[in-house]
Amino acid sequence: MDELRPLQDEEIAETLLRKNASRIVVRGCGTAGQDSWSLNEGTGLDLRGLNGVLFLDRRSGLAEVEAGVTLGALATLAERGGCVLPVRPPSLRGTVGGAIATDCFGGNHPSAGSFGHQVLWIDLMNARGRVHRLSPETTPERFWATVGGMGLTGIILRAGLRLQTVGSAAPVRRTVRVDSLDLAVQQLNENAFSGENLNSTVWTQRGGRGLMESEHQVQGQRLPRSARWGQREGVGRDTRRRLARLGQALHPAELGQSYPGLFGLVRHHCAIPLGADTTLARIFGLLKAARVGPVLTTLQRLGAGNPAPLSFPLPGWALALNFPSGRAGLPATLADVDALVMQAGGRLHLGQDSWLDAPGVAAMYPGLPGWRRVRDEMDPGRVFASNLAIRTGLVE
Ligand SMILES: Cc1cc2nc3c(=O)[nH]c(=O)nc-3n(C[C@H](O)[C@H](O)[C@H](O)COP(=O)(O)OP(=O)(O)OC[C@H]3O[C@@H](n4cnc5c(N)ncnc54)[C@H](O)[C@@H]3O)c2cc1C
Repeated sequence: MDELRPLQDEEIAETLLRKNASRIVVRGCGTAGQDSWSLNEGTGLDLRGLNGVLFLDRRSGLAEVEAGVTLGALATLAERGGCVLPVRPPSLRGTVGGAIATDCFGGNHPSAGSFGHQVLWIDLMNARGRVHRLSPETTPERFWATVGGMGLTGIILRAGLRLQTVGSAAPVRRTVRVDSLDLAVQQLNENAFSGENLNSTVWTQRGGRGLMESEHQVQGQRLPRSARWGQREGVGRDTRRRLARLGQALHPAELGQSYPGLFGLVRHHCAIPLGADTTLARIFGLLKAARVGPVLTTLQRLGAGNPAPLSFPLPGWALALNFPSGRAGLPATLADVDALVMQAGGRLHLGQDSWLDAPGVAAMYPGLPGWRRVRDEMDPGRVFASNLAIRTGLVE
């Protein structure tokens, strides 16, 4: 795959015209599954050079950014003025373009939704090099086909975002030990719709037992000047020791490399709908019986989804399992996990996927025919593609 790193819209448009009929894959920081931003035959456009924050009003939280700006750079600028990213994915290494294309979400999904909820508009370049502004009000079908659309509707150049203003108080991180899956589910449910909750994730290594980390906004309480974002509160000695180890997993990007390649982990990220909660215990049971325990698991509560047909979150639970690659029996066990997920009406995250096939995606994403119809209008020549899109039949 040829790879180009354009710095301006014009360069991208020229490339599209020059590469007439050749397939194009767009990439940001490559933190999603590798298949989603690679293409065996075609041209890769690395958008990390388009990384300006064009406008940021910390009072209203309105921002206008180029697609290649990283969430970390945006968060740092925003936090200085008391704003935070409304959606807090575990890693801030990805770009805004990638966050829109994967419709990424964080541990506050029930209250904040996924990334697309905070996008006001998108400037999208089509295969002919023309730029159109999409918004939920003026072009809802095209806008939502692009959110979670894995870069297959065009190139996201810029976006208008609504950040969250949190006032002057620093959010505080609390850590609670959870000793069972039932307790983890209960704690996450309790936190889910609290307005003060910015993030809640259970980090566990075995069957639901682990730590629940949650970040809360402290209203009306003046914190010492030394208080910092993510300050920990109420952590016992024992817990703190364990936290230091898990903390590396919380922001693996801080280790300076991309994930999941860093750990050589195979990531399985599934959503289980509400009402099928017992599937979580069945998955843990299956992994235990097959002796392929994940090295790290996160469990998050998901709230209502959005109109994006390929968006991953649905009301229920997001379970992310991370395994060392090459573990004996892993592929067969994960196929059994997939069957349980499908039986429960759940789905796998396209942004993390490395094995789903076309029937699997069609079964998990009932909005797929509608998405195809809109994508066909937006990219009739199927210029935008990726290895993931070809494997899963999103692009024929
Ligand atoms: C440790 C870790 C934990 C994570 N946990 C979660 C999680 O809990 N929930 C979650 O949702 N995500 C999670 N992610 C995934 C991550 O948040 C997203 O993958 C990230 O936002 C993608 O950004 P990127 O710049 O790396 O995109 P890339 O990985 O480079 O690309 C991802 C997709 O977006 C497309 N794309 C990228 N930029 C553009 C553009 N400008 N225009 C059009 N298409 C584009 C690509 O073609 C590709 O299909 C996690 C990632 C890490 C590293």
